[in-house]
Amino acid sequence: MKKIGVLTSGGDAPGMNAAIRAVVRKAIYHNIEVYGIKYGYQGLMEGNIERMEIGSVGDIIHRGGTILYSARSEAFKTDEGQQRGIEQLNKFGIEGLIIIGGDGSFRGAQKLTEKGYPCIGVPGTIDNDIAGTDFTIGFDTALNTIIEAVDKVRDTATSHKRTYIIEVMGRDAGDLALWAGLADGAESILIPEKQEDFSTVIDKLRRGHKRGKKHSIIVLAEGVGSGFEYGEKIEKETNLETRVTVLGHIQRGGSPSGSDRVLASRLGAKAVDLLLEGKAGRMVGIENNSLVDHDITKILNEQHTINQDMYKLSQELSI
Ligand code: ADP
Repeated sequence: MKKIGVLTSGGDAPGMNAAIRAVVRKAIYHNIEVYGIKYGYQGLMEGNIERMEIGSVGDIIHRGGTILYSARSEAFKTDEGQQRGIEQLNKFGIEGLIIIGGDGSFRGAQKLTEKGYPCIGVPGTIDNDIAGTDFTIGFDTALNTIIEAVDKVRDTATSHKRTYIIEVMGRDAGDLALWAGLADGAESILIPEKQEDFSTVIDKLRRGHKRGKKHSIIVLAEGVGSGFEYGEKIEKETNLETRVTVLGHIQRGGSPSGSDRVLASRLGAKAVDLLLEGKAGRMVGIENNSLVDHDITKILNEQHTINQDMYKLSQELSI
């Protein structure tokens, strides 16, 4: 293999740039030409493709977002769209493609691989919702962003003796809420995978109030429902002044944490190694601090699961 390509797709995540940098530099280290495809699969179909040099990825390791930009493309979900993508890759003589993104993006990688075009997936999403890897690129940064925000909310919550609901990202996956809740000492953590009884949430709030607690923090993953509706229900039931903060897209931005930069560098470089070994249809990941790779179809058929011990611990510590 003499020419490879790299693109970022779907929801962006801090650390994607560090992964792009690793792909580009590792490829050039091995005397491989590397091409950046802008705007994900949309840009691929349109031939928005540029040669990348060592300097193309200078001064980006610390930046959030993605210098290759991202996009969502319905057209790429069709056979015709995928065929157009392969035609563009062939036109440039690109023989293998590295896709940095979430599970949606990996479905695109799976389709291209099935059509005979070798692809490797690099998990980049703040949600940490992909099987076959302990962590995805961006999760640690988003977690730290939430923790910083909750610390600030906690100051005002204490001043006013309020209960705060913090709504965080996670439609199907509760990892961000679980980790943030544990790190923030939240009273309750509400995640799609585990529905704590409303009565338990209320009991905990009342017990804390009786003990003289000055504030309460509840972390809720968006997949559970609206933080505002939950807040209203709580205020009605307890008569405790309740406020809601929806963190939204600030969770996606910012300079990547040290852990995310290192993870992205390791996974990006590993993806290049796999292409050079002639592998295709694989996703790189990290398990027990070792780099691994798995069949992408297998990963897409599996569900990422939360750490049950951590959930139990969060309950034991929030009595
Ligand atoms: P993420 O990768 O963050 O999960 P999306 O689910 O939006 O984000 O997927 C990103 C893009 O991947 C989609 O806009 C589409 O172009 C492509 N994609 C998603 N599902 C498929 C599919 N079944 N076949 C081909 N491409 C897909």
